[in-house]
Amino acid sequence: MRLPAPGWNFEMLPFALKKLLFYAYKRGMMSMFGCAFCQIAAHKKPADILYEDEHCLVFRDIHPKAPVHLLVIPRKHLVSLNEGSEEDKALLGHLLIVVGKMAKDQRIDGTGYRTIINTNAEAGQTIFHLHIHLLGGRILHWPPG
Ligand code: 5GP
Ligand code: ZN
Repeated sequence: MRLPAPGWNFEMLPFALKKLLFYAYKRGMMSMFGCAFCQIAAHKKPADILYEDEHCLVFRDIHPKAPVHLLVIPRKHLVSLNEGSEEDKALLGHLLIVVGKMAKDQRIDGTGYRTIINTNAEAGQTIFHLHIHLLGGRILHWPPG
């Protein structure tokens, strides 16, 4: 009987290397290897940016699902809310304040808007850099699919 060809997997790496990779991932260092939103934040990838400050930026979603569909992202590469910690308390609060300001700016504060944060694959997260969707300008049904 033929044995399956030996394949590479993460488990085979020595423990110290695994720890190092995990640490680098958590600290956001892996983002330098191609996170689209880090690249937008660094102005290395084009985007329709409507607002930016020291901590965050806001740009239009490339595939809008509503007349207003903005993404609010921290400059810091946080993968998702799963990574949120006490250290990020002020940052996460700041993102929500910016959402409110953008809603006013886009004149959807009166009619209504929805904020969404997808976390991991089953919730539909496709970009693994934390982002808040801000949707408005049409009637949004409930519950979402
Ligand atoms: P998620 O599915 O992770 O919650 O949301 C990712 C969102 O980012 C999607 O709505 C997608 O259309 C948007 N998106 C993905 N890549 C880009 C990009 O390169 N530029 C912009 N502006 N939006 C993007
Ligand atoms: Zn990133």
